[in-house]
Amino acid sequence: MESTLLKDDNTHTSFVQLNVYACTACWECINMCPNKAIDKSFLFSANTLINEHVLIYNASKCTGCLNCIQACSFDAISIYKQ
Ligand code: SF4
Ligand code: SF4
Repeated sequence: MESTLLKDDNTHTSFVQLNVYACTACWECINMCPNKAIDKSFLFSANTLINEHVLIYNASKCTGCLNCIQACSFDAISIYKQ
């Protein structure tokens, strides 16, 4: 999946907060999410990949299982605090 837009809606669900700047694009959280709430995002400039990280594409599907927090070794996902 490709996205060049970083919006508030793409960085949290009702349960978890994503820090894209800490994300190393290891993709472990994607593998561990049972509801496909998160997916890969690639930022291109002049056909050159300049950044990659996960984004939350289906926040409404997040059930708060917290698998993604457990899966992330880089503290890029945390509990969402409103
Ligand atoms: S808390 Fe669970 S359902 Fe929500 S994004 Fe993380 S792994 Fe997916
Ligand atoms: S597990 Fe963490 S570092 Fe890996 S893709 Fe997910 S948020 Fe990024």
